[in-house]
Amino acid sequence: MRRYRHRVVLGQKDLDLAVKALAARLAPRLVGEVTAIPILGGAMMFAADLLRRLPTSLRLDFLRLQSYGDHTRPQQVPMADWLPQARHVAGKTVLLLDDILDAGRTLQEAKRVLLEDFGAAQVLTTVFLDKPARRQVAMEADDFALRIEEDAFLVGYGLDYRGLYRNLPYIVALELDAQGQPVELEAAAGLDEGSLG
Ligand code: 5GP
Ligand code: MG
Repeated sequence: MRRYRHRVVLGQKDLDLAVKALAARLAPRLVGEVTAIPILGGAMMFAADLLRRLPTSLRLDFLRLQSYGDHTRPQQVPMADWLPQARHVAGKTVLLLDDILDAGRTLQEAKRVLLEDFGAAQVLTTVFLDKPARRQVAMEADDFALRIEEDAFLVGYGLDYRGLYRNLPYIVALELDAQGQPVELEAAAGLDEGSLG
């Protein structure tokens, strides 16, 4: 099993409190016909927690955009490869959800697809984490649960590395080497507190 050096950045309690506060801010803004659209797969955990705290009259559909692949930096322009049903979006208010707003391209492209290609009436963008350090385009979320100022590569609560760690119930930063690869520990040394199985 591979293990990586890491440190906990946000604990389970921090996540719970922040999502609860975000839900309270969002609820009054969700009027009329609203469709919540999490961006798969990173927004899954965040969406599951947030949506259960919002009015039950929401519709739920999905959009998938991919850019990271198996790397720790975005590799390509985000491309939609799973789209919501047109009737869930056209003329509706869309609550667009993502795990993290980093360079900004993913949320920007998702918002564009929903407004321009699907004719959403309006798109309210909401992310769990705002990480402004590496922003590359002029894109800000309408609201977010938490902001992280440092430029760290995070996993957990939906965020993955090579498909792993999305189900971690808190958020950790993986230590990266000069090439941007997570620092691996030998199996024997991997049993200390700074390791992640
Ligand atoms: P961006 O804003 O960079 O275009 O895209 C955001 C997407 O990049 C997120 O949905 C997430 O999949 C990925 N991403 C950005 N920052 C991180 C990070 O620190 N860790 C992980 N695992 N994924 C990230
Ligand atoms: Mg993602």
